[in-house]
Amino acid sequence: MSREQVLEFVNFCHLVQEKGLVSGPGGNCSCRADDRNIMITPTGRSLESLTEEDVVVMDIDGRSAHKLKPSKEHALHRNCYAVRNDVRVVLHVHSVYSVALACLKDLDYACAAPVYTAGYAGRIGNLTTLPYFESGSAALADGVKQVIAQRNSVLLANHGLLTVGSSYEQALNLVEEVEANAQLFFILREQGRSLDEAKSGMRA
Ligand SMILES: [Zn+2]
Repeated sequence: MSREQVLEFVNFCHLVQEKGLVSGPGGNCSCRADDRNIMITPTGRSLESLTEEDVVVMDIDGRSAHKLKPSKEHALHRNCYAVRNDVRVVLHVHSVYSVALACLKDLDYACAAPVYTAGYAGRIGNLTTLPYFESGSAALADGVKQVIAQRNSVLLANHGLLTVGSSYEQALNLVEEVEANAQLFFILREQGRSLDEAKSGMRA
């Protein structure tokens, strides 16, 4: 693992914070460092204050010799790498509109928010939600593994959002798309027309 890789990771974490996708010590991020190891954010720290020395290196079985403890959600991250060879970055945020969506009383677990645009339909589609499991629990990590085996994003009930990508940009783009679509949902609510409804209107 090179210093450039670590600096790129730190810069990315700062970018996620600057974009307002996390607040306080919430949210965490990881990236494959090599075949055996990942870089991951430490627990209890904001992404904003992350420095080069703070980046925890951990092997895919969860062992680390770093002075700081890794994010307590490290099993979520490791499971994503274990289940998909193409995943290089895992991003987990507690962004406001996505969390609001994840806290809805009448949440549809198979499709958390209506699909309004073709771009969102292609890249996200029906957003799967996992039922609530405690943060850091094996049940949550297992649930994430099952969804990420098939998809690049998963909403976590009463908790947050997780996306994966083959690059930082891909993982971040997915987070931003889910967040923007969730924001649209709260602006539109019952006045919204889904993409499917718009298409059938065209045919009528
Ligand atoms: Zn979380």
